[in-house]
Amino acid sequence: MRRTRGRAGTRRAGRAMLDSVRVRLTFWYAGVLALFLVVLSLITYFIFWKSTLRRTDNDLAELSEAFLTTVQAEMLDNHGPDAAKLATQEAIVEHRFRDHVFAVFDPQGEVLTSSQDLPNETSPAGLLASGSFRKLVDDSGRAGRLFGNVKGGRNGYRGVVRKFPLKGQTYTLVILQSLHPQEEMLEEVRHTFDWVIPISVALASVGGYFLARKSLAPVVSMSTQAGRIGAENLNERLPVQNAKDELGQLAASFNQLLERVDQSFERQRRFMSDASHELRTPAAILRGEAEVALSRGERPAEEYRESLGVLHAEAQRLTQIVEDLFTLTRADAGQYPLSPRDFYFDELVADCTHTTRSLALAKQINLTCEVPEELPVRGDEALLRRMILNLLDNAIKYTPAGGRLAVSCERAGNEYALSVTDTGPGIPAELQQKVFERFFRVDKARTRSEKDGGGAGLGLSIARWIAEAHQGRLILARSDASGSTFRAFVPAQVAAQSASVPSASASR
Ligand code: ADP
Repeated sequence: MRRTRGRAGTRRAGRAMLDSVRVRLTFWYAGVLALFLVVLSLITYFIFWKSTLRRTDNDLAELSEAFLTTVQAEMLDNHGPDAAKLATQEAIVEHRFRDHVFAVFDPQGEVLTSSQDLPNETSPAGLLASGSFRKLVDDSGRAGRLFGNVKGGRNGYRGVVRKFPLKGQTYTLVILQSLHPQEEMLEEVRHTFDWVIPISVALASVGGYFLARKSLAPVVSMSTQAGRIGAENLNERLPVQNAKDELGQLAASFNQLLERVDQSFERQRRFMSDASHELRTPAAILRGEAEVALSRGERPAEEYRESLGVLHAEAQRLTQIVEDLFTLTRADAGQYPLSPRDFYFDELVADCTHTTRSLALAKQINLTCEVPEELPVRGDEALLRRMILNLLDNAIKYTPAGGRLAVSCERAGNEYALSVTDTGPGIPAELQQKVFERFFRVDKARTRSEKDGGGAGLGLSIARWIAEAHQGRLILARSDASGSTFRAFVPAQVAAQSASVPSASASR
């Protein structure tokens, strides 16, 4: 039982070790190096073996050449029927080295003479009668010269067979050279490889492991530091040792990611705090008004109605803020479902103008609307309506009584440009880009004090998001003391089917 657990523990430890990039890198490195060394050794060994064989063949060829020259020379001194035998015997005596075996065959294929007839012969007896020797001689056939291997002795022989003419007849010379010295050399080379390869791989693995450890050390330290970074210390960054190398680039990319996450967190934090701030005011008014209504005993119905009116207005305002916040959070998450359909943009603009006419009348604002007919568009009608109403509401809200409000629409290339121009107080130049930010109001005190439902500063953010959700845009085209013009561009026939719109989150 204990042993089973012990083995399982060892397996787990082994797996854990393999989970380390350092160890895996070292294994790979050692494996590839071992393979490389083995292949290299095999190639080297093969080349070495080949060249040794070539050298042996060359030696044999030279020796046979010298031997035949000697035989020719000896033939000049020998006459009679045994001349050939005597001449070849002389040549053998002259050229005989240790490890060499000579044999000369007469035209009938019988051994004329051989070094084995000489005293002190060291080659094995019966070598000339062995199968491999006979085969070499037979294979030579009519060929002038043939090299081949013959078994026997300690490591076999390399042999050359040569036909040569003597007194008008063809004799055969065979010289065998023992392969023992070459084999010994090759054996030494093999032994060298046997220890050089494992030692090189072992040394390289140890070196590779330390190298991998050293190179990966910054990664380990980065991951430790990254593990320490949380929501509360998102402003911390990883150290970048060398911005040009891969690890430096990784750290830099990670830092950029942290920067984006940090900004996004900051945006969310600000959004939350602004939202709760905006919600706190109407909630406090609701509570205060209700407390006042309940504090005194019997009161005239008129006063209760007035209190209920205030409660209703604030509840409406609260509902509007909550709805706007909900819209923006869903837009941020890319989850606002757009429902595109075909309709006429001119009709929508006319309808919105009509809806706000009574508000304008109440403030004696002269509202005009100039829209050409037949402007087909594909988009989410409810959202586009909300965008236009936000612009008209603002224009009426911020234009003093007796002012003018002009709504116009024109075709601009492939899109429609809707202009809403008022004669309000305008927006200071340095704040003009900020009006699209969430919760931004030019004059918070002024807006809040107004009884006409001063907004929470979300209307233009939502309007801009709607325009961008339709692949259009919303800009403040002009704003000065004489009034402001907001322009919304909406593509004529572009389908807006995606709900993931990035701009809402970027608007602050
Ligand atoms: P709000 O709900 O407060 O109107 P918006 O996002 O619609 O929020 O507008 C942001 C701010 O931009 C407003 O508080 C106001 O100060 C300014 N603003 C918007 N429209 C106009 C306009 N037509 N004329 C002057 N100021 C405007």
